[in-house]
Amino acid sequence: MDEHSLVTYECFCCDKLFSKRVFEISRGWERVIFGPGYPEIEIRGSLGIECYCSELCLETRRHDVMLDEGVPIKRPGFGPIEACAKCGGLVDTTEFHLTYIEHEYIVGVVAQTVHTRYLAVLCTRCRRYA
Ligand SMILES: [Zn+2]
Ligand SMILES: [Zn+2]
Repeated sequence: MDEHSLVTYECFCCDKLFSKRVFEISRGWERVIFGPGYPEIEIRGSLGIECYCSELCLETRRHDVMLDEGVPIKRPGFGPIEACAKCGGLVDTTEFHLTYIEHEYIVGVVAQTVHTRYLAVLCTRCRRYA
C-alpha cells in the first residue's frame, strides 16, 4: 500500500483534483556554489505559490502569478552574476538570493524533480521576503 499515491492536490487553474505529478510555481531562497564540478544549488527555503495538474495549466497561470508577485518574468542564466528581474541590477548568485522557479516533480517518499526552470532572480534591494 503506497500511501503517498493518495495525496491529492487541487489545480489552481482548472480546479481538477490530481496526484503524483505536480507542476508548481514557487519562491525560493538559494545560492549557487561553484566548484570544480557541476555547480551545486543550496536551498534554504522554498515556498510553493500555486500548483497545477499540467504544464498547460501552469502556462495559463504563469503570467498572472508573477503579476501578483510584482515580478516580471526574466529568465536568468546560470552564472555567478545574473540580472535582477525587477531593476536589472546585478545579483550575486553565490550569495543567498530570492528566486522564482517553476518545477515539475513526482510525489513520493522523496519528491523527484523532473524539471526546474528559473523564472526570475531578485537582487537584495528588490526582494520582498528574506
Ligand atoms: Zn489544471
Ligand atoms: Zn533589483
